[in-house]
Amino acid sequence: MSITAKPRIGISACLLGAEVRYNGGHKESRLCTHSLAEHFEFVPVCPEVAIGMGIPRQPIRLVGDASQPQALGTVDPALNVTAPLAAYGQQMADELQDLSGYIFMHKSPSCGLERVKVYRDNGAPQHEGGRGIYAQAFCAAHPDLPVEEDGRLCDAVLRENFMVRVYAYADWQALLAEGLSRGGLMRFHSRYKYQLMANNPVQYKVIGHLLGTMGRGDASEIGPRYFSQLMAALKRCATRGTHSNVLQHLSGYLKQSLSSADKQEIQHLIEQYREGIVPLVVPLTLLKHHFRLHPDPYVSQQVYLQPHPENLSLRNAI
Ligand code: SF4
Repeated sequence: MSITAKPRIGISACLLGAEVRYNGGHKESRLCTHSLAEHFEFVPVCPEVAIGMGIPRQPIRLVGDASQPQALGTVDPALNVTAPLAAYGQQMADELQDLSGYIFMHKSPSCGLERVKVYRDNGAPQHEGGRGIYAQAFCAAHPDLPVEEDGRLCDAVLRENFMVRVYAYADWQALLAEGLSRGGLMRFHSRYKYQLMANNPVQYKVIGHLLGTMGRGDASEIGPRYFSQLMAALKRCATRGTHSNVLQHLSGYLKQSLSSADKQEIQHLIEQYREGIVPLVVPLTLLKHHFRLHPDPYVSQQVYLQPHPENLSLRNAI
């Protein structure tokens, strides 16, 4: 897809400032409402309001078996909204097929993705590894969809990683809309070579091997498997070490075109980046400058050079 198109992202409605919480309040995330809003089409959903719990309402919590908890009222435990929340998650998963990501409200018994508290029947907390009932049902139906919690997005590395995955997902949706072919799949993978090397060098080889086994008519069979593996591999965050390695590879394409002083400058900035003195955008900007003067057809198609919009400034912070 074009990087200028706005991916649609599902989001817990309270994070956009909607006053839908049990107490009539919200949990506005300024990152979402300010920095991200202009780049994405947000689709706000409040599952508790949607199943008719009203505002204000009795708060709920997760109770019982941590692997299969129930969402019960905190005041009246006879209120059990597990089934309607799960059914609504399934319904939304069916309706929102065109999302490229989802941002969930952390710790919520409906929307939380991880570490949601699960209580014993007597009210004592027993476990912090639960997942909200709605989030669980939604994610089970879209296992490859990039999902994140609002709090984790405050971490620059996790935020950049999430955005890489969101745009990769949108890119794949655009490819599917065109119709999946063997050539299209190979070209897609080729464009992700250096991004994948940065995130997960081991899986880069494994996934390449999977495509290598593809016969002529296999694109529709291998395509979904390929994409699941790609999305799983991209979940691993790139490090200064793996980024530096990719920058070195990219600089290799310039070795015939640059003076030794220019090459030394690149090496110096890559080293400064590796040591944590400058952010990723510094050596990358210099490399992009040289590639503008000395274009390389293979490098110019690489997603790694600009996996998300430049003015999100995500690589200034990592
Ligand atoms: S966390 Fe989810 S259920 Fe709770 S108020 Fe926000 S959107 Fe609604």
